[in-house]
Amino acid sequence: MAYVSHLECSAGCGAGPFDPRERHHLCACGLPLLVRYDLGRVASTWDKASLVDRPPTMWRYAEMMPLLDHDKPVTLGEGFTPLFHAATLGRSLGLTSLYVKDESLNPTNSFKARGLSAAVTRAHALGAETLSVPSAGNAANAMSAYAARAGIPAKVFMPKDVKQPFIRECELYGAEVTLVDGLITDAGRVAAERGGPLGWYDVSTLKEPYRIEGKKTMAYELAEQFDWQWPDWIIYPTGGGTGMVGMWKAMAELEAIGWMPEGRRPRMVTAQATGCAPIVKAFEQGADRAEPWADAHTVADGLRVPKAIGDFLILRALRESGGRAIAVDDADMVRYMRDLGRHEGISAAPEGGAALGALHALVAEGLVKPDETVVLFNTGGALKYLDVLAPA
Ligand SMILES: *Cc1c(COP(=O)(O)O)cnc(C)c1O
Repeated sequence: MAYVSHLECSAGCGAGPFDPRERHHLCACGLPLLVRYDLGRVASTWDKASLVDRPPTMWRYAEMMPLLDHDKPVTLGEGFTPLFHAATLGRSLGLTSLYVKDESLNPTNSFKARGLSAAVTRAHALGAETLSVPSAGNAANAMSAYAARAGIPAKVFMPKDVKQPFIRECELYGAEVTLVDGLITDAGRVAAERGGPLGWYDVSTLKEPYRIEGKKTMAYELAEQFDWQWPDWIIYPTGGGTGMVGMWKAMAELEAIGWMPEGRRPRMVTAQATGCAPIVKAFEQGADRAEPWADAHTVADGLRVPKAIGDFLILRALRESGGRAIAVDDADMVRYMRDLGRHEGISAAPEGGAALGALHALVAEGLVKPDETVVLFNTGGALKYLDVLAPA
């Protein structure tokens, strides 16, 4: 049942194709690799009706997942999260069809579970003996949990000012935690220096090809949950961009296997923090790559990514979809976390608040029309960020 055909350079540099049965992280040119499938064979053997009795996890889309040679997923039940109609919040914005895809309901409380379930599944199948990851918090929690599930030792590297709950949760899953002076990029450098010589398997964002495959399932689910139609807008808090790049890839795949019509994709919107908005800046300047953001700071740890290796892929998805990139300040994120809680009963991370902030800006500009269908991604829950909710 393996439909994976090969790994390919995301920038089309001409190197490769690469063999998915071997360990590959980046392309020879230093840019991310993407997983390719035998789409013709998938199209002729897989149909939507098969989904009816599949498990309610992201692995229900097994034909388009990186499972080779009868591999079993390393799973904790990630994905197939609910899509809530946010009627009250929508009304306050003058919108009839506002939805929240609630990723806080994933294992370890964020959508990082999707990417790490897929990455650890492949790492396990490839015989990795030690896993390592630099993280702003949520990726470290997810990696630690899936590594524990697979029985592989985990090493995590986080900025030393990371919030306590992220550290304690990694320890709970038995991971070894190293705190690094600096940002996630510095944590990545230390992880590579330490793990490189020892052969640790690095699952950094976009530095191995499989986290994208986990995150792309968010688009497969949206398609299925909207009965095989796309919403008009998707608003996504963007850090490293795995989800944005993954969903854009998923849309092309769903068109290629004939499950979704061509030429009707949603407009993709990136929400970032005013204290760290490299993609917003590059988007506004018409640049193909983003410059590293100096002095990155925001309460939304997942958005504190000063330089994304897949910046060109994020920018391409935004532009090809007729989308936007919008920065939201920390005070507004917290305000909108409270709105999601108070009006819809949703526990939102600051990143979820940022998505709602970006929607407010789009509505104020008159870009989103009252009857258009809008999906906000709440990428994580509030519980690890309670300090930002403490009364002043
Ligand atoms: C990591 C993270 C993000 C950013 O995700 P990318 O797909 O890497 O851009 C957003 N929100 C939360 C809660 C995160 O943990």
